[in-house]
Amino acid sequence: ELSQRLTVVGDAVPKGARLADIGSDHAYLPVALMLVEKISYAVCGEVVAGPFHSAQKQVAKSGLTEKIVVRLADGLEAIKRTDEINAITIAGMGGTLIANILENGKTQGQLTGKERLILQPNVGEANVRLWLQKEGYQIVGENILAENDKIYEVIVAEKTEQQQELSEKEVFFGPYLLAEKNNVFLKKWRQEQQALKKVLAQLQKAKVIPEEKVAEIQKELSWIEEVVS
Ligand code: SAM
Repeated sequence: ELSQRLTVVGDAVPKGARLADIGSDHAYLPVALMLVEKISYAVCGEVVAGPFHSAQKQVAKSGLTEKIVVRLADGLEAIKRTDEINAITIAGMGGTLIANILENGKTQGQLTGKERLILQPNVGEANVRLWLQKEGYQIVGENILAENDKIYEVIVAEKTEQQQELSEKEVFFGPYLLAEKNNVFLKKWRQEQQALKKVLAQLQKAKVIPEEKVAEIQKELSWIEEVVS
């Protein structure tokens, strides 16, 4: 059974997709989607030997070796042109790593811009949105969910003609999440508020106060206050 987190990621994969799941670990997501015939083909990419082997085992155990290919590769290097991938999932990593994987994939030509991107950063979501904005992607949907005492965000993006100009606040909170302000979102930002207040107090006790960092946190705290109150 898929976690709720991966279920939400999978829900954003288009029906019949040719999927690349990067950092696939056990290949749970592509296997689950293939078993319900949501996707027609998948590549699982893993850069670490251990997870690569567990992905291979899972695919074999599920009898899906004809339809799911597992490759040991760094980021989008797992994708070949002949795969005709039209959806990419990158889940369960930091936002900076996700943005780096996308940037390298663009530079190396594995990312064509025609794929739907479904991204689930564990932290650093703003870095993902900044990269998408810089590259002319439009965020077409966002989700936030709580599972096992953790809160996860899912960002879905496509490259379209339409330009999307996100405000600084939208980059920080997520344009859809900010518009909706659901209970999970409010919970997340109340927790962040407490954490940032502690960081700020620590910084202000330092011998040499890092003024820039303090100002940045104060700005974020004022945004958060506005949003949660
Ligand atoms: N995607 C799965 C999920 O969301 O449950 C697994 C997440 S797991 C925490 C992150 C995986 O990404 C690890 O197995 C790690 O080896 C892999 N990974 C990290 N950097 C990677 C890269 N540059 N290319 C491919 N895989 C990578």
